[in-house]
Amino acid sequence: MSVKNKIIKTQESLNKFNAKLIAVTKTHPVSLVKEAYEAGHRDFGENKVQELLDKQPELPNDINWHLIGHLQRNKVKFVVPFIHLIHSVDSEKLLKEINKQAKKIDRPINCLLQVHIAQEESKFGLSEENLKLLLNSDTLRDASHVQVKGLMGMATFTDNDEQVRKEFQHLKNIFDELKKTSLPENVHMDELSMGMSSDYKVALEEGSTMVRVGSAIFGERNYS
Ligand SMILES: *Cc1c(COP(=O)(O)O)cnc(C)c1O
Repeated sequence: MSVKNKIIKTQESLNKFNAKLIAVTKTHPVSLVKEAYEAGHRDFGENKVQELLDKQPELPNDINWHLIGHLQRNKVKFVVPFIHLIHSVDSEKLLKEINKQAKKIDRPINCLLQVHIAQEESKFGLSEENLKLLLNSDTLRDASHVQVKGLMGMATFTDNDEQVRKEFQHLKNIFDELKKTSLPENVHMDELSMGMSSDYKVALEEGSTMVRVGSAIFGERNYS
């Protein structure tokens, strides 16, 4: 099946959940991104800043670029001029830097707070405790150029669907609980970014509003 057909099919499978597809293009050439663009798709995700910076100028201006991977503070200034949504805010220091760079160019930046829900040690993300500390921090309250739109999480990489489902349910619970609490003015719990090629169907059933799908659309990645 062509990229165009896969994009259309994947979008269709999301409709009844009212969720958005972020097409993850990492390691894939600009030509494939263009194919998806021509199928009408506008939301694309990259996990590495350098690759994002390489691709963005080669592609149309009306693309919504999502940064889904770990963001180093020294790279924030390169993405704030054009990024649509940063999914991977996982520390107070990073949030502070995003606000600082966003303020310089007077462009508010949409962010999600990444929460650690997987069993693996290696994945990035805030613990539940640090999430609450960040939400209650002066840093966030004073971040005039940061808009927090919700949460992001990655499940454990496993074939065990029940474990994956539990982890997504856990994040959804945190999300729903936060909605009920009083939050800073620049925080709104609207978006829940969870689900990738292997688990987005489970994520949708558990309340995801944004899925980040790469290989199911563009094929396997070749890292060599
Ligand atoms: C690569 C990546 C995805 C998409 O992964 P696929 O398995 O190719 O769908 C989603 N989220 C993040 C953070 C990623 O790095």
